[in-house]
Amino acid sequence: MTAGMLTIDIDAAVANWRALAALSQAGAGARTGATIKADAYGLGADRLGPALARAGARQFFVALAQEGARLRAVLGPGADIFVYCGHMAGDAAILRDHGLIPLLNDPAQVSRHLQALPGHPFGIQLDSGMNRLGMEPAEWAGVRAAVLAGGPALIMSHLACADEPAHAMNQTQLDNFRAMTDGCTAPRSLSATGGILLGAAWQFDLTRPGIGLYGGAPFANARPVVQLDLPVIQIRDIAAGEPVGYGCTWVAPGPRRIATLAAGYADGLLRHLTNRATLWAGDTPCPLVGRVSMDLITVDVTHLPTAPEVLTILGPQQTVDALADAAGTIGYEILTSLGPRYSRHYTGTDAPKAGQAGFPA
Ligand SMILES: *Cc1c(COP(=O)(O)O)cnc(C)c1O
Repeated sequence: MTAGMLTIDIDAAVANWRALAALSQAGAGARTGATIKADAYGLGADRLGPALARAGARQFFVALAQEGARLRAVLGPGADIFVYCGHMAGDAAILRDHGLIPLLNDPAQVSRHLQALPGHPFGIQLDSGMNRLGMEPAEWAGVRAAVLAGGPALIMSHLACADEPAHAMNQTQLDNFRAMTDGCTAPRSLSATGGILLGAAWQFDLTRPGIGLYGGAPFANARPVVQLDLPVIQIRDIAAGEPVGYGCTWVAPGPRRIATLAAGYADGLLRHLTNRATLWAGDTPCPLVGRVSMDLITVDVTHLPTAPEVLTILGPQQTVDALADAAGTIGYEILTSLGPRYSRHYTGTDAPKAGQAGFPA
């Protein structure tokens, strides 16, 4: 084995979805969809989408129409697939052919959609304060009557600070969203993972978690979904004063045993982890020493009783968020950086068999 092994626990992701769905149901009686953009945060929408559909998810969210088309092929006709980027110029055919629901972001997208695909389902994205995507209150006021007459499948907005429950922005955006949508009969959605945890007032009719499904913060009770085991290529003993790696940024303070592992920044182990990350031999921590290089990292294993064959960088001892802290980033970026060279294994009783249709009959 030379490639690192990435193990993705489908049952854990399904359990996380069920837990967030139970919170949404108990709070506002909301249904729960699943955000599986960017290939399910790098973990494989082809595998996780069908498993979540079997668990009961019926609304799926992707960023791009192209992602939606690929997802339709694995989910079959029964799921709603929403596209956060809306109806971009040139996308009419892909939206139509794959039955995708664009979340229209501005009045120009509304006109484009109503002209190009009259009668085709659409949703609306409103800006409640984040200033990233969606219509401003004045824009919304201008198209609201025409849009509501067309029967939008969903009216949604997105929270900027939902991972900080005490942040005043959460209440501000809730108030803005209500002011823009109270009285509309279309289903409403405001919350991703963080918003679900804020409570019933933020949940409306449909929630659309992403990161919580994949085991990441702010869903503190999430089950870990990924394990990443890296093979040891070589082990050497070095003397006090010898350096390790590019730039000689680490120098052995005494005699040391150094393991060289087959993964580097080309595989998503961000170079900022240089001299910062921890790897694990079972329960024993082993510090990464020296610079992360493209294909390799070096780890101090002096204290292990036997030479390891594999060390773990993501798993029960170290979550994606713990590794993200060491890298100065967030779990989302750790997951979506996981590279294509790992050999990927899906475990769990819900792991679909090859060729099995994704969507339940
Ligand atoms: C990515 C995204 C989500 C999912 O957010 P998580 O924090 O991963 O749960 C929901 N809504 C929108 C608009 C998004 O861009």
